[in-house]
Amino acid sequence: MSKSKSSETVKVVVRCRPMNEKERDAKFGRVVAVDVKLGQILVRNPKEASSSDHPKVFTFDSVYDWNSKQIDLYDETFRPLVDSVLLGFNGTIFAYGQTGTGKTYTMEGVRNDIERRGVIPNSFEHIFTHISRSQNQQYLVRASYLEIYQEEIKDLLSKDQTRRLELRERPDTGVYVKDLSSFVTKSVREIEHVMNVGNQNRSVGATNMNEHSSRSHAIFVITVECSELDVDGENHIRVGKLNLVDLAGSERQTKTGAQGERLKEATKINLSLSALGNVISALVDGRSSHIPYRDSKLTRLLQDSLGGNARTVMVANIGPASYNVEETLTTLRYSNRAKNIKNKPRINEDPKDALLREFQEEIARLKEQLEKRSGKKKKRRQRKRAGEGSDGEDLEDGETEDDDEEGDDKGDWREQQEKLERERKAIMEDHSLVAEEKVLLLKEKEKKMEDLKKEREAGEMLAAKVKAMESKLLVGGKNIVDHTNEQQKMLEMRRQEIAEQKRREREMQQQMDSRDEETLELKETYSSLQQEVDIKTKKLKKLFAKLQAVKAEIHDIQEAHINERQELEQTQNELTRDLKLKHLIIENFIPLEEKNKIVNRAYFDEEDEYWKTRPITRIEDDHQMMSRPLSAVGYRRPLSHHAHTAMMMRPDMRYKAENIMVLDMDLPARTTKEYQEPVIAPKVAAALESALRDEDEIQVDASGLHSSLGATLPTGASLKKPKSGRPRTGKKSSTRTSPFSPSSPGSPLYPQCRGLVPK
Ligand code: ADP
Ligand code: MG
Repeated sequence: MSKSKSSETVKVVVRCRPMNEKERDAKFGRVVAVDVKLGQILVRNPKEASSSDHPKVFTFDSVYDWNSKQIDLYDETFRPLVDSVLLGFNGTIFAYGQTGTGKTYTMEGVRNDIERRGVIPNSFEHIFTHISRSQNQQYLVRASYLEIYQEEIKDLLSKDQTRRLELRERPDTGVYVKDLSSFVTKSVREIEHVMNVGNQNRSVGATNMNEHSSRSHAIFVITVECSELDVDGENHIRVGKLNLVDLAGSERQTKTGAQGERLKEATKINLSLSALGNVISALVDGRSSHIPYRDSKLTRLLQDSLGGNARTVMVANIGPASYNVEETLTTLRYSNRAKNIKNKPRINEDPKDALLREFQEEIARLKEQLEKRSGKKKKRRQRKRAGEGSDGEDLEDGETEDDDEEGDDKGDWREQQEKLERERKAIMEDHSLVAEEKVLLLKEKEKKMEDLKKEREAGEMLAAKVKAMESKLLVGGKNIVDHTNEQQKMLEMRRQEIAEQKRREREMQQQMDSRDEETLELKETYSSLQQEVDIKTKKLKKLFAKLQAVKAEIHDIQEAHINERQELEQTQNELTRDLKLKHLIIENFIPLEEKNKIVNRAYFDEEDEYWKTRPITRIEDDHQMMSRPLSAVGYRRPLSHHAHTAMMMRPDMRYKAENIMVLDMDLPARTTKEYQEPVIAPKVAAALESALRDEDEIQVDASGLHSSLGATLPTGASLKKPKSGRPRTGKKSSTRTSPFSPSSPGSPLYPQCRGLVPK
């Protein structure tokens, strides 16, 4: 599996962006100086008086100032890395730094502008140009794009953007993202399209893109597989994977005032990045055997890039303005540590999961199938030509011809179809056949036609599939043609040479510098005592300055540590408080029995690093599950009557498990009451009773009146109580049905009118 076992360190480069408009308008001072030749960054901290004389110096593999061009960075720093990916190494490029310092600019840049496009588009161009110039090699290039936001992994290329993916680990291939989609791409245009789709998905979900991108990590993965025949004629596959990582902004999320949900969010945002810091520290420290890769999704996913099987370049982005000096120093310290990480890159040869191999095998299999098919056809054709007719389905041995042409194939098919059609017509017109027979024969013919069609379609599909799969495998000079002319190629080579030379120059300069300090001074001889004193005083001064610088550095680092510790303590306090609250709730509001049940079911999932609860099962000693209802004998779940009858009556499977219950609708709650008659006191009742007696029983002595008025009183009729349609209800009725109502005016029995009616 491995070809080179040598270890190499993570390459760290620093890039300082130009002052932006705002900073220039606000007249911020520049505190960063960049010595490109020496690979040094010098930072003056305006808050410290001594720092104008003794700026803090950091040395890196290479440094880029505000005038640096994207292509310079690419040629000097990234091109060698991508080249080794093409050879089958794993490679990773990180962009690290405060928000707004040019991480995205370095990684992506301005896509449509050749001058200003970043590493990712440049690497597309590089990879496909390399393939187009290759010989006797087959390539398969695929791309994936994912994002880590608040410790959740999102596939930026999947249709379902709400889905969160999980990390899995396999002993042979290491950590991978389960179900991450990847697209095979055949050209720069296609892979650019993949990136655009991902970028769109990235911004769609975010309410504030700037804030979102400063809190999330975006990883673009390009896998390049290459197959080549070795000298023994054996096919070997090498797989290189290139991770292009745009990290979240490294500035501290201010935690003051953050509580509850917001605090949780803040800790999660920082989690991956601080875990990255811890991993770097642990790797560099050398004392700790445990590297906390598992502390975050990012570090787990990039485990190989940090101290494993990969070549890694880290780009630290900084800003030049004075108000960012603290962040700039933090970034520089952070990346300074990363310089010392040792990786063990090796060529990944013939890994088990190479997609290219699968493709090659599948193509071979399909081709074989296709071969068989065309063999069948040829035989049939030959039989036909020999005058045997093509009706028989049986296959006989026969010589196969070599004229396997598509046109011939098509003609053959059409011929057969026409023949069948003719036969069909003949049957239709044949009057000697009985109708039933006709139908039968017709059916048979139709079936044959159908079969013929199906077979042809299957053949075509197979051929199309082979074609599609083959087109995905790239071969230089065939699938992609290199359009650059010789002159441009020469120019490219020159640029690479220059880049290489620059790198060597810088290395030499750095070495010379350190040697200067160490050895040259020791060898000095002095001609006089005075001279010796002078020189030694000078040296002493220099060393003293150095001592001061180191002391200041120690002080700074201590302060940074204290800050960090305080933040951690604050987080811990908050979390403890949260925990206490939850305990309080559990102790006071959750029955002990329920709590124990949950505790018994809880377990820690090592894979997901998350506490989970086991499904409820029936365990003899602790009865967690309800006993099975009697109605459910023999069935997995209780059956309703409906389903039961459906099962008995219907032969088909449909509705079998439909447990329909007929439920009547609930009536609305009543808001009125039944009427209740008032209770009448016995005295009143008696009075009423007497008042309401039938008129028959009223005895009136009207003999006197009778004679004087000379009127005849009809017996009974007019004295009868008038009938009312209403039931007797309460007091009202007593007045209404009163016999004293003026229903018969002029009656001597009733009161006289009181003058309203003229007499
Ligand atoms: P980050 O991704 O680190 O938050 P960006 O890449 O979005 O930062 O950069 C912020 C702004 O600064 C952008 O408008 C970008 O064009 C500009 N910028 C960054 N680096 C450079 C550079 N080296 N040259 C010119 N402009 C730059
Ligand atoms: Mg960005």
